[in-house]
Amino acid sequence: MSWEPVIGLEVHVHLKTRTKMFCRCPVGFGAPENTQTCPVCLALPGALPVVNRTAVEWTIRLGLALGCRIAEHAVFSRKNYFYFDNPKGYQISQYDLPFCINGKVQVPTADGDNMVRIVRAHLEEDAAKTVHVGGRTGRIRGADYSLVDFNRGGTPLVEIVTEPDIGSAEEAKRFLQILRQTITELGISDAEMEKGTLRVDANVSVRPAGSKELRTRTELKNMNSFTFVARGIDAEVARQTAVWESGEAVRQETYDFDATTGALTPHRAKEEADDYRYFPEPDLVPIEPPAELVERLRSELPELPAKRIRRLENDLELERATVLVTSGLDSLWQQAVAAGAEKIPAANVVANNVVGAGLDPAAVSAKELAKLVDARERIPRAAFDEAISKLAEPGFSADPYLAQETVSDEAELEPIIARILDASPGQVEAFRGGKEGLLGFFVGQVMKETGGKANPRVVSELLRAKLK
Ligand SMILES: [Zn+2]
Repeated sequence: MSWEPVIGLEVHVHLKTRTKMFCRCPVGFGAPENTQTCPVCLALPGALPVVNRTAVEWTIRLGLALGCRIAEHAVFSRKNYFYFDNPKGYQISQYDLPFCINGKVQVPTADGDNMVRIVRAHLEEDAAKTVHVGGRTGRIRGADYSLVDFNRGGTPLVEIVTEPDIGSAEEAKRFLQILRQTITELGISDAEMEKGTLRVDANVSVRPAGSKELRTRTELKNMNSFTFVARGIDAEVARQTAVWESGEAVRQETYDFDATTGALTPHRAKEEADDYRYFPEPDLVPIEPPAELVERLRSELPELPAKRIRRLENDLELERATVLVTSGLDSLWQQAVAAGAEKIPAANVVANNVVGAGLDPAAVSAKELAKLVDARERIPRAAFDEAISKLAEPGFSADPYLAQETVSDEAELEPIIARILDASPGQVEAFRGGKEGLLGFFVGQVMKETGGKANPRVVSELLRAKLK
């Protein structure tokens, strides 16, 4: 019997608003610990929350981009739990009346679009950051003591929950890439897993291939890149499959995935019981987003990544189109093509070289890029790489690099090669007798003859052909 994975994701996104969710403390990373706090986010008695309007608008904007219905009546609720990362004893979150429900995200694949349904996207405040000092695991168990940084406490967070509509680790990664690109293009978050501004938990189960049943699922936490999310899912799918095949049953548990060892270890939750005793936050009135606001935000949505991938597929393969769009470089590619670059070579240069160099696409001159794409095989590799690395510098010109153009014209090179081979019959014979190392000697002769202008790759190819 074969098994198929059933995957749902929960994604937390930090909004990059100027101030926190319910107070005017600044949001930002890198400030000294516990310097961005006030009576509201420290939960001093009598302090009252005030909703951050920008955070609400951004949540609605995101919900619209995820194809959600926007609630006409949304409510903040208290989620009660006791832990030292939250001095109030509860987190202000949303429960039965979140801002965004019933969405759908298009994930282009080779077999058509996979539609991942979105259950909800709600707005809440983050807890403070805790650091456990001492001990081997960096967790609270076995630590000597724990520290709390309240700078993060009360910062706005959107939680996005999908239905279990994802059928493989690879598809989960693709969904996350599209989601992240959507979020960054909306300008509401940097959505970087390494910085913790985007966090992903995966709910994983397996079932006999083709069936519709939903078996016991487990939750995977603490994966800090999309690649690790995919690896964690693969490891958990393999583990569950082995459990079912051995005649046992999968138990509902939460696991931490350790990407360096590939090990799954049971996670100790800070609250064992799931009873958060939610109730509507009495210090905040319900929010009823006006229809005009929602329609304005809808009209301001950019063309979404999945749509652009499908549009680029008119010219490029799906994989190439996906890389360009999910790295935010598709418009640079389009501009380079408009400036005269050939489509596929331009896509390759942008996807391989420009992505690799980590350049800011907005700073790149598409015209200079187009020149480099055109000349990529005629200038020395080192010059090409250097030019790419400087592409985003102000006033960059490709011309000095194009001036290093090498001679690759076979008609020009062949007579030179013929002359050199005629002049060294001994070496030619030795090469044909198996001393292939002599190729370097011939290449060197050609370079000398052409004053270093010949393209070494073309010269090698021509020499090999002639020396057969
Ligand atoms: Zn504050």
